[in-house]
Amino acid sequence: MNLHEYQGKELFARYGLPVLPGQVAGSPEEARGIAVSLGGTVVIKAQVQAGGRGKAGGVKLAHSPDEAMARAREILALTIKGLPVRKVLVAKAVDIVRELYCAIVMDREKKAPLVMLSAEGGVDIEEVARTAPEKIVRFHVPLEGLRPYMARNLVRPLFPDFAQAQQAADILLRLHRVFTEGDCSLAEINPLAVTPEGKVLALDAKVVLDDNASFRHPDWENWRDPAEETPGARLAREKGLSYVRLDGDIGCIVNGAGLAMATMDLIKHYGGEPANFLDIGGSSNPEKVTAALKIITTESHVRAILFNIFGGITRGDDVANGIVASLESSPLPVPLVIRLTGTNEEKARQILKEHGLGATTSMDEAVRMVIEKAQEVVA
Ligand code: GDP
Ligand code: MN
Repeated sequence: MNLHEYQGKELFARYGLPVLPGQVAGSPEEARGIAVSLGGTVVIKAQVQAGGRGKAGGVKLAHSPDEAMARAREILALTIKGLPVRKVLVAKAVDIVRELYCAIVMDREKKAPLVMLSAEGGVDIEEVARTAPEKIVRFHVPLEGLRPYMARNLVRPLFPDFAQAQQAADILLRLHRVFTEGDCSLAEINPLAVTPEGKVLALDAKVVLDDNASFRHPDWENWRDPAEETPGARLAREKGLSYVRLDGDIGCIVNGAGLAMATMDLIKHYGGEPANFLDIGGSSNPEKVTAALKIITTESHVRAILFNIFGGITRGDDVANGIVASLESSPLPVPLVIRLTGTNEEKARQILKEHGLGATTSMDEAVRMVIEKAQEVVA
């Protein structure tokens, strides 16, 4: 799960990271009120999960409450990288003399957290990584964790001023606690800013939480932004189905992740494009079948649906009952192709037949058929 900047800063503040006070607003009037209570110059920032908001006009300074309201109105009307701005963060602003980059990301290849630091902050770090990779300091955190001396050694080359280096080392250590205790896969500060007074501050927060750890953090639910989730994705999460939306037009409902991958491969092999990955799992709960069909039919880009069931633990008759029950309660808007083989295959075929549905045993044939049907819909 990706956090908005204001949520990331909330998390940072819990760990004592130096973030400036601010609040999130959904309207220009609300933004004005926050500016009044903060006093002085404020910065208005679009809360969308995309980088480069600054360049897109989504970050603006305001020197009075009225100006804050006007800037908020402008920013709330923006769409940044396809994402409509629904909220803005109104925070105390500061003068900046330097912008650096500081992040910890999980390096899956090395199986360790990776600290990245750069004096070239503020801008796109991907750009720095491409054009001047030597300007990024990299350090894999060893199993024992990030020790204070490691943090001091890392930041020293970037901060000639001793007092600033101390602040930066402290920030890095706290960011590491955010990363480990907070179960993040990314915790990034860009810019890590230095003020004219020599204060080092986290002016931006980008946090990605590792969903595999959500069971340890019931409070994460409060951060979930329903506006960021498609109806299909929400339903899948609620029903515990693993679902990934893709851009093709063939909806796939498959039991087992391996078979789901193979199904997608075969669709591509025959020139089709899968509209999703959806694994209904190894059990044969008819409810999951119904939920899966609901998820798929919430997506407008689906032109035909393929059921691919290999019955092992999954019983074909249960799946068939699930299909029949959901078709009876809500007929499908698009053609359906069923491939079904394995446990209780005969029973399943019988149930489907009684309801006017056919099923093939060949995955090859089913895939070719569903691609054809999807094309017929377009034609
Ligand atoms: P991003 O472009 O989406 O990464 O948004 P950031 O939060 O990083 O903001 C972009 C830029 O706005 C920063 O690099 C700063 O230059 C500027 N900025 C953000 N907050 C302040 C502030 O309090 N004061 C000043 N002067 N500039 C700020
Ligand atoms: Mn930034």
